[in-house]
Amino acid sequence: MNDPILLTPGPLTTTTTTKTAMLRDWGSWDGAFNALTASVCHDLVDIIHGGDTHVCVPLQGSGTFAVEAALGTLVPKGGKVLVPHNGAYCQRIVRILGYLGREAVVLPFGEDAPAEPARISQVLASNPAISHVAQVHCETGTGILNPLPEIAHVVARQGRRLIVDAMSSYGAIPIDLQSMSIDALVAASGKCLEGVPGMGFVIARRTVIEAAAGNCHSLAMDLHDQWIYMQKTSQWRFTPPTHVVAALRSAIDQFLADGGQAARLARYSENCATLVSAMRKLGIRTFLDDSVQAPIIITFHSPPDQAYNFPEFYRRVREKGFILYPGKLTEVDTFRVGCIGAIGATEMRRAVEAIATTLREMGVKRLAVK
Ligand SMILES: *Cc1c(COP(=O)(O)O)cnc(C)c1O
Repeated sequence: MNDPILLTPGPLTTTTTTKTAMLRDWGSWDGAFNALTASVCHDLVDIIHGGDTHVCVPLQGSGTFAVEAALGTLVPKGGKVLVPHNGAYCQRIVRILGYLGREAVVLPFGEDAPAEPARISQVLASNPAISHVAQVHCETGTGILNPLPEIAHVVARQGRRLIVDAMSSYGAIPIDLQSMSIDALVAASGKCLEGVPGMGFVIARRTVIEAAAGNCHSLAMDLHDQWIYMQKTSQWRFTPPTHVVAALRSAIDQFLADGGQAARLARYSENCATLVSAMRKLGIRTFLDDSVQAPIIITFHSPPDQAYNFPEFYRRVREKGFILYPGKLTEVDTFRVGCIGAIGATEMRRAVEAIATTLREMGVKRLAVK
């Protein structure tokens, strides 16, 4: 197969086994498909140690649909949500809350600085009306990792509820629902589990989802309704993404056989280290300090050279077999390279070779500000 390697944070490169799992049509009423959904949901709770306290509610659509559904279903109409903000996906949560008519309190951090538990704690202490905190775990806009265990700890101590966008960390970064107090954690099929895109899921505290009747503004986004219906019928409410679920079943089987979260983190960490050291050898700088970088996606400073422009750079690297990702920062010119997907250190090295050749072809000489 000559598909380009996707160095993007979803969709990403999947294995042939995962793609092959989609070569079958499933009936949505069929017992075999319902069993498939149930087994996937069971494993999705298990991977983050949800035990008996948490349940999995899957939802059709991309990850954002599930984030919106979680906020719309779990934050009641008079709720007030603190959003620690250090990037584009935090901003997306703020926009969603605006659409939902839920009040947001933004706590800004620099895009290169992790959210600080102590400041979150302070804001909660002085704002008793804040009912929830909506926290992005790995902020994919830059690749920064926010300290989730410490944040969960201060939110619980202040007696507030925590909703986590763990889209780009779930499956790779350790998350333990038995030691962190989290009401709902949102992720999707097509990120670190290495399934194909098309299904989001919310791992929610059972008592919280059961108490959420009547909160949601939208029928299609109502996770409480989806959960109750699934409990009754073992079916999805509306047409399920059958092939996506089948691919995810296969992707989870491979994930578990490979050694689960620890093995995935080890592979991504090696990908990240290989990528960053080869790029630094070329002379290209990372945007983030290594100490706050998650091994998921890396933001690099664009070469400050007249001869560089991203569209041309992208096109030429793509011709060599690799798909890069544009930067998402407003103030600094950057581009991003993902290190997740069914790829290893060999692909990362070859990607940097393609980048090096491309920069030579384009006549880019100045690679970093001295
Ligand atoms: C990918 C991602 C999402 C969801 O984005 P979609 O384009 O809707 O799949 C949400 N939050 C984070 C942190 C992500 O990485």
